[in-house]
Amino acid sequence: MKLFPSRLPNVGTTIFTVMSRLANEHGAINLSQGFPDFSSPALLLERMTHHMQAGANQYPPMAGVAPLREAIADKVAALYDAHYDVESEITVTAGATQAIFTAIATCVRPGDEVIVFAPVYDSYLPAIELQGGLARVINLQPPGFRPDWQQVAAAINPRTRLIILNTPHNPTGTVWTADDMRELSRLVRNTDIVLLGDEVYEYIIFSGPHESLARYAELRERSFVVSSFGKTFHITGWKIAYCLAPAALTAEFRKVHQFNVFTVHHPSQLALADFMRAEPEFAAGLAGFYRAKRDFFRQQLAGSRFELLPSDGTYFQLARYEKINAMPDTEFARWLTIEKGVAVVPVSAFMPGGTDHGLIRFCFAKNETTLAAAGEKLRAV
Ligand code: PMP
Ligand code: GLN
Repeated sequence: MKLFPSRLPNVGTTIFTVMSRLANEHGAINLSQGFPDFSSPALLLERMTHHMQAGANQYPPMAGVAPLREAIADKVAALYDAHYDVESEITVTAGATQAIFTAIATCVRPGDEVIVFAPVYDSYLPAIELQGGLARVINLQPPGFRPDWQQVAAAINPRTRLIILNTPHNPTGTVWTADDMRELSRLVRNTDIVLLGDEVYEYIIFSGPHESLARYAELRERSFVVSSFGKTFHITGWKIAYCLAPAALTAEFRKVHQFNVFTVHHPSQLALADFMRAEPEFAAGLAGFYRAKRDFFRQQLAGSRFELLPSDGTYFQLARYEKINAMPDTEFARWLTIEKGVAVVPVSAFMPGGTDHGLIRFCFAKNETTLAAAGEKLRAV
């Protein structure tokens, strides 16, 4: 049989999978794929086991269990003074990746244009392509990686359906400001452009406050806002997240969601609802928790030949390596993994067309012992 033409001819295996596999093969310290090497809160694990034993093992409601949607509504109201209806405006999803894919599938038709900012998270462009959409890429320029609003204005046209933004930004750690939100509001006012906010690192922010799309009534009314419990509660493997959107957008989102996954792992949802009620201070403490890790990791690299860029949010740190050698970043990442024992992600993996800024990304969501062991190896490079 002749294989059908690929729907994604230019896509391979994700860089995160590739680098983690390489790290494992070579016994390298894995600072590539973004996941913590420390455990999730004990109470959360206890509640998960409890709900499994208590019988929450069949389909939950399509949009998610009520106690979790209520906990999300309360949290968003407290943080952003934004009031989302529990019944019609909050949907629990199987990770942020699914929420983002579903939001794109919900509103992008063949020929529609979607504005994205590069470096761009790897799932956005394939999701747009699968819908027959066309990505209009705005390049964020190093070292600040700040959006240039004139370029965005120039990219907007009658075919623009969606703008996707990610703050705090993976991989650069850039945080969008209130001024950015004002510019964005000005550009989309009197248009039918929809916004998709990838806010999975909303709590991991060192130069705040987090400018959620939910915070601005004018933006909220046209936005899908996505966050992920994976980042907030150290459970990236549970693959559970949510999407906020006004009722009309949510109704369309759920039409796709119900035939994509229908619903999401039941005991995790109940456990998260219990945990959010019992330990509301946990999430609020994340910024301080990760700031200490960032500072510790940066100290480890002091005196090395890596030049560190600012990291104002996320659990990632970018570094320039031009004082070490002139390899392309993908080659450098492989070399560092195989020869020097520390796995990282090359930033060109986030660049459509593979533009190479000579930068690599470290993940510092690790125990201090891991970061110290990596620091020792990296200072010797
Ligand atoms: N968006 C960004 C910017 C991310 O960094 C990640 C995961 N690291 C995701 C989306 C996906 O989140 P999830 O694991 O919940 O699918
Ligand atoms: N988002 C994580 C990162 O940036 C990885 C998620 C994945 O492996 N797909 O490293």
